[in-house]
Amino acid sequence: MIPILMYHSIGTGLEDHPTAPYQVTADAFEAQCDALASAGFRSLDAAALADILDAGELPSEPVVMFTFDDAYTDYAETAVPIMKQHGFHSIVFAATGHLNASTTWPNGDGLPLHSMSRDEIASIAEDHHVTVASHAHSHIRLGEFEDDALLAELTTARSEIEAIPGADSTVLAYPYGWVDKRVRHRTIDAGYTLAMTTRNETCRLIEDRWTLPRLIVDGTQPPLELVEQLIEAADQR
Ligand SMILES: [Zn+2]
Repeated sequence: MIPILMYHSIGTGLEDHPTAPYQVTADAFEAQCDALASAGFRSLDAAALADILDAGELPSEPVVMFTFDDAYTDYAETAVPIMKQHGFHSIVFAATGHLNASTTWPNGDGLPLHSMSRDEIASIAEDHHVTVASHAHSHIRLGEFEDDALLAELTTARSEIEAIPGADSTVLAYPYGWVDKRVRHRTIDAGYTLAMTTRNETCRLIEDRWTLPRLIVDGTQPPLELVEQLIEAADQR
């Protein structure tokens, strides 16, 4: 089993906001990284995940994948420095139509935070600890688009990510994790080779590449609860 962790914001300020579960404090995040590093976990990038799924076999050491949705400014400011100290890699998913903007989404929800600008994203994209990838363009549930518009939404985001040196335009996180059969097909048509949902499960070796599950890291839970479960599971194999 391959735990793919899903984070949003690393920081403070949302404690009293309905989106509090989507924010993990820097101290809690550091404690999670410490615990995983001490237990010998290696972090995967997209290519390493694809290789494991291709081989159908887990490596001998425990592995984990870190993903961050929405490309908030605190990703570069806080999350990346902590991950680098631990030698961990992560993928950040940017909605290309919402760069350098408040991330109140078209339907009015979202975290009251700011996303990175294209320049900020470009400056981290060449760091080998970071992969910048696609979170579609408009941050609208993809099922709401008619077919042609759906393909355009996916290809626009792909070409914008492709234009950032060092970024990986073949990996997608569905906005809200929302996917159905039609969206999955169009995602493949648009050229994505891996796509992530918010189905809160550990990724299995037999998982479909375009409906990968991720474990939601809830900032309101005790910070080590989830990672201790992962460490225990790794010990038991
Ligand atoms: Zn999102």
